[in-house]
Amino acid sequence: MTTDYTFIDFDGVILDSEERMLERKYDLGFHNHKDESEFDAYFEYTNLHPEEWEYIIKEAKAINNSVEIIKELENLKKKIAILTKIHTLQEMKVKTELLRENLKILCPLIFVPPSVKKYQIIVPNNQLLIDDSKKNIKSWIEHGGKGLIFDSKIESDTNEKVRSLEFLIKR
Ligand SMILES: [Mg+2]
Repeated sequence: MTTDYTFIDFDGVILDSEERMLERKYDLGFHNHKDESEFDAYFEYTNLHPEEWEYIIKEAKAINNSVEIIKELENLKKKIAILTKIHTLQEMKVKTELLRENLKILCPLIFVPPSVKKYQIIVPNNQLLIDDSKKNIKSWIEHGGKGLIFDSKIESDTNEKVRSLEFLIKR
């Protein structure tokens, strides 16, 4: 029996909230998604307009059946946890409400605050992370974990990338 968890990213893996956030940011006039200071300004704006996160997260759609697959993994008693970056406390609150109350997902939720890396919150120690950020996967592996890049647009899974969470059911 393994005590290892599989860690699953939220934005861009479970729900299409990442794209929605970027669209929202763009619409407010913050057009350069490579400029960190634009994100700071946008997240400051969301602190004054808490409904931004409601819109971004609560109306987001599941990617390649991720929500149904996570429920199935829970039924199968697989050791999974959601490991997700948050930019504001309001975002954390809305994500928690959505997962627990709306989607009825019950696995552990681990939030990573701004300026902190996922591998700092969870010591990777050979455990698997599935994340749509190449950067996150690279640093997770560098710190001793196993990682797969989630890319919903590829045709089929490879050694490095998966298009859905389905492979976890048979794992
Ligand atoms: Mg992500």
